[in-house]
Amino acid sequence: MTESITLWLPAAQSPAEQDATTLIGLAASELDCKFDDIEGIQLDKYSLDARRQPVQWRVALTVYFAGDEIPEGDESLANLPSLGNNAQHAVIIGSGPAGLFAALDLINRGWKVTVLERGKQVQERRKDIANLNRGEDADGESNYAFGEGGAGTYSDGKLYTRSSKRGNIDRVLDTLIAYGAPESISSSWRPHIGSNLLPEIISKISAAIVDSGNTILFETKATEILAGGGECKGVKTSTGDVIDADAVILATGHSALDSLLMARDAGAALSAKGFAMGVRVEHPQAWLDEAQYKSSQEDADLPPSFYSIATQVNERGVFSFCMCPGGWIVPSQSTPGTLVVNGMSLSKRDSPYANSGIVVSVEPKDWCGKRGWRWGWHELLQRAAKLSDHPMLHEVIEDPRGGKPFDVAAGRLPIHPDIDPLFGVRLQLALETVAYHEGGKDGKAPTQRCDLFVENAGHQDEAIPTSYLPGVKPTDLHEIMPRGMAIRLVEALQFFDYKMPGFAGAFGQMFAFETRTSSPVRIERDNDSLQAVGLKGLYPCGEGAGYAGGIVSAALDGMRVAEAIAVV
Ligand SMILES: Cc1cc2nc3c(=O)[nH]c(=O)nc-3n(C[C@H](O)[C@H](O)[C@H](O)COP(=O)(O)OP(=O)(O)OC[C@H]3O[C@@H](n4cnc5c(N)ncnc54)[C@H](O)[C@@H]3O)c2cc1C
Repeated sequence: MTESITLWLPAAQSPAEQDATTLIGLAASELDCKFDDIEGIQLDKYSLDARRQPVQWRVALTVYFAGDEIPEGDESLANLPSLGNNAQHAVIIGSGPAGLFAALDLINRGWKVTVLERGKQVQERRKDIANLNRGEDADGESNYAFGEGGAGTYSDGKLYTRSSKRGNIDRVLDTLIAYGAPESISSSWRPHIGSNLLPEIISKISAAIVDSGNTILFETKATEILAGGGECKGVKTSTGDVIDADAVILATGHSALDSLLMARDAGAALSAKGFAMGVRVEHPQAWLDEAQYKSSQEDADLPPSFYSIATQVNERGVFSFCMCPGGWIVPSQSTPGTLVVNGMSLSKRDSPYANSGIVVSVEPKDWCGKRGWRWGWHELLQRAAKLSDHPMLHEVIEDPRGGKPFDVAAGRLPIHPDIDPLFGVRLQLALETVAYHEGGKDGKAPTQRCDLFVENAGHQDEAIPTSYLPGVKPTDLHEIMPRGMAIRLVEALQFFDYKMPGFAGAFGQMFAFETRTSSPVRIERDNDSLQAVGLKGLYPCGEGAGYAGGIVSAALDGMRVAEAIAVV
């Protein structure tokens, strides 16, 4: 009969690094039985408990005795069935986590898939990412967001999700393990892969899809969704080919503005949704470790510490997002002439810096009418339009209700979110444009010390050391940030400093801007069939369509859509 037990290990003994013999020995002494009585153990969950001193590992184990059936890893998850005759055909636009997990699921259900990916394969993509890190302008088709594996490939690879569907989450994690992810992701309290390991895992998934007789076309963009009579029939690609399909999955991520326009032009209904934008903040990891572990680290080789912090200011959440201990800040823009910051880390998390987005929730009504004016969006739009001729910043938008058309470049704001579902995208683009120009148009990020920002005391003269490779340009961020965002960030940083003294001190550095936390647009879909409202046979999926935020939730949405397609 199995036993579930909890062990406490000293901080220096990470459970992920203990061999089975050590853990069996510890379990035997906990259960007061002989070593040989135990047939095997399974590491269920482990976490670092830093709330009490000394810091310790809490380890939950299942212990198996003679006669118990010991579960084994499900390697079959990496074995895809060969393609059958007369299989139905799905085209999947986008090879991010949503697209790839939809593909794996559909293949397992007997479908044939063609995955279209505008970007390059991982090895080729690496060169374009290196160029970005040297401060070069973004290649609009190959960058941190576009290419094999989507935005997940060179991401941090933290695998947290708010979803509570444990069975499905386990399937995502077990699939990643089957394709080479470390086994610890299924038991760690903070599962993480790291951007040094992710590319190989993604390549193996792509290879399995192709080896099973299916197709992935890289550097091939879907340029048109072919529709007739309210039904989606297939897609046209950048190579001029037309591909017919029984179902089309649109899993294009939150950076592909042209793909949103493509869905809208084909007849899919779009709506504005809340999202979050702000800055990325960086601190020395040593400062954070001392604050979090209260100097108890001594000789123990503890993992770099993290934080998750949130507050409400003037009815809007301000919160840490995608915190990367031992990480790097990276230029993750996908449009030339813009700058976006995000964070990533390697599996060892060994950079001397800790970074996190500190972002402010923005609801659609916050950019409308008088409220939008108070936030200061009109000034941002005017400024961005002077700097860039991007059509999204210069459109004159018709009011579908018959009101006066409004001119984005003049800083006019809609009076209702329905007038322009893409208005949140325009605000993202405006902030990214201003950051690019303010940084000097060579990849440098505008930055300000947290204490100077909070006191509104101008910027430091010298650049502070940072993980951000293209370099920084000290800037007074109040001058380029909409005031609705600035007011909330100041108050939130003061609160975070109260909770973690020094957070908003001279060690903290803010980077402009973190704009791509989630999509400001939703492509509406029917709750049951998951098909786009207004366009049967098109399945909006993942983060870009507004149904996911992060690697695991995008993968889960891909599986959900695949199931919906297969049961039609
Ligand atoms: C630097 C960075 C770090 C991150 N860190 C984490 C993290 O630690 N944990 C986490 O959970 N999330 C993280 N994220 C976010 C995560 O990567 C995304 O939430 C996730 O990848 C979304 O998955 P998706 O499949 O919906 O879209 P994406 O991954 O964005 O994939 C969409 C794909 O579609 C392709 N595409 C777009 N338009 C077309 C078209 N017309 N034709 C063909 N192809 C097209 C794109 O090239 C892209 O490859 C990070 C993101 C970045 C940029």
